[in-house]
Amino acid sequence: MRYIKLWVLLLPLLLLGGCGEKQHQKQVYAMDTVMNLTVWGDGSALNDLQQLLQKAETQLSVTKPASLVSRLNAGETITPEGEIYALLEDAAALGEATGGSLDICLYPVTRLWGFTTGQYHVPGEGELEEALSRTGNQRLILENGTARLEAGAQMDLGAVAKGWAGAQCIRLLEKNSGVSCAMLSLGGNIQTYGTKADGNPWRIGVQNPKGSGLAGVLELEGTWAVVTSGGYERYFEENGRIYTHIIDPATGYPAENDLASVTIVSKNGLQADGLSTALYVMGLEKAAEFWRETGDFEAVFITKDGKLHVTAGLEERLKEPAGEVSVLEQ
Ligand code: ADP
Ligand code: MG
Repeated sequence: MRYIKLWVLLLPLLLLGGCGEKQHQKQVYAMDTVMNLTVWGDGSALNDLQQLLQKAETQLSVTKPASLVSRLNAGETITPEGEIYALLEDAAALGEATGGSLDICLYPVTRLWGFTTGQYHVPGEGELEEALSRTGNQRLILENGTARLEAGAQMDLGAVAKGWAGAQCIRLLEKNSGVSCAMLSLGGNIQTYGTKADGNPWRIGVQNPKGSGLAGVLELEGTWAVVTSGGYERYFEENGRIYTHIIDPATGYPAENDLASVTIVSKNGLQADGLSTALYVMGLEKAAEFWRETGDFEAVFITKDGKLHVTAGLEERLKEPAGEVSVLEQ
């Protein structure tokens, strides 16, 4: 069996000429991935960001037995601090809004496939069916500041944790950090902060999901979360078949449709991360419909035929496309 991890689907470009102040950089390993943090201004903020990200890992990891998520999975009722309670509420609500394409209680199924534990394995139909019967966002019960899971249910915040952590980083930077602008790459999740002094936009490369090179460059001004999900980012191969790490909660099998990758651009990090996963599961047609109905984010869909489908609000922001571009209108 072969397991392949091709990390970065988004690349921060142009780290020079930031906000006119001194640039500081730090590489951090947290949340199961390499993170590259770049800030302009007071470099001591990097240590605070690192601490925040490591705390997020300690709280949210599904594999660390002492994490809040593991305690929930073990059947405990917990009383999390306010921001974690809000994360649980927002993640479950986002999952519901996607009709369950994002399912934060999918762990019984993802664990069978081994993507979080490293024990990759194609599950048998019987065990998959049993695991599926214990999934669904509604199995997380939030009451009066406490959180617990229904009996047999298990959660995994892997689809939203890095996006949420990116948003927490922005909150930290906004609080008098002495940082005027920043570009954070959290294992391929990009979070920009602030405006560059030279007046130029941030440039973020969207990787070609198949093969090498860029499929396009997004030019954005100000503070944004940009998150890509793609099947070719993490997968394993068994008996000549490829199994990707994004699971369709309706079937329990890896999502398989016309999409090769989904990039979401949003002011809200948790939404960007959760929707990149959910819309990848939906396929282009349903995803475009979801965008038309929801309307508070933008997206670039790359289909397996190499075409780029960009929502109207990003049309002017997508530069140097490597394939045919079609614009999705409201
Ligand atoms: P990554 O974390 O690799 O950047 P995603 O944000 O797309 O990628 O999240 C994928 C992770 O979320 C998987 O590794 C798995 O743990 C979990 N997952 C897979 N499919 C779903 C789904 N449909 N809903 C919620 N979580 C999922
Ligand atoms: Mg995601």
